[in-house]
Amino acid sequence: MGSLTGRKALITGASRGIGRAIAEAFAREGCRLALVATAPERLVQTAARCQELSGGLDVDMFGLDVRDPKACDEVIKKVTEKLGGLDIVVNNAGVTRDNLLMRLSDDDYNAVLDTNLRGAFNITRAASRALMKSKAGRLINIASVVGITGNAGQANYAASKGGLIAFTKSVAKELAGRGVTANVIAPGFIETDMTAGLDPKVKDGALAGIRLGRFGKPEDIANAALFLAGDSGAYITAQVLVVDGGLTA
Ligand code: NAP
Repeated sequence: MGSLTGRKALITGASRGIGRAIAEAFAREGCRLALVATAPERLVQTAARCQELSGGLDVDMFGLDVRDPKACDEVIKKVTEKLGGLDIVVNNAGVTRDNLLMRLSDDDYNAVLDTNLRGAFNITRAASRALMKSKAGRLINIASVVGITGNAGQANYAASKGGLIAFTKSVAKELAGRGVTANVIAPGFIETDMTAGLDPKVKDGALAGIRLGRFGKPEDIANAALFLAGDSGAYITAQVLVVDGGLTA
């Protein structure tokens, strides 16, 4: 029996990168999954792998733009009906549109805030009733170390992640009385599509600051999510777990 056997989780941004690694880690521990990305066909590979890892559990796939509150309500309704409840929600979907402040367009600002912060709000609000009904409700929001430190060229992204941290701490206080924990994971520099296209000079600079001497892997974040999602995380709430190899130490 896995540490998440019998639990039901929804993970956004599960088509690739960190979200996919979290989905696979949860599946390995016997969790029943509902996965979200912008289109269901983008989730086919993750879902097949999760089904294999879980020993054959069904995996549901939903195409959803987390920026759309109505669509979030509808998907959460379908998920809770189909799965018979919801115990764990991971708000992982996120985007970057980096630029220096003076060149940051309204579109770049809005796209990042709408996806990273409003998207997490849309999903969390829709799922809050189901989480409160669960005996072990867990909200896990994926922010970033730049939501704590700030970063030149990422004012929009840092604002969205700093907002997500404050949002999560507030939700933690609101839902604690119903036994729901709400925490943030703040990754440092993780090797995914999001960071693949960065200038080699930026990458070298980041690597030089990482005390453990390597970029993070999506699995490093998945391990932290697994810790918070299971019984191991039962007495942890309103916290920010930094997983950055010592980048911000
Ligand atoms: P990624 O490889 O670019 O994957 C992003 C995921 O988010 C994809 O599954 C994508 O779905 C989904 N997504 C984007 N916009 C969406 C929308 N409007 N509605 C629904 N889904 C949407 O990114 P990643 O590196 O794994 O990052 C995952 C999370 O970790 C993000 O919140 C990111 O900010 C955070 N993070 C990453 C790093 C890093 O170094 N990589 C560091 C700190 C924090 P599609 O496939 O359908 O596009």
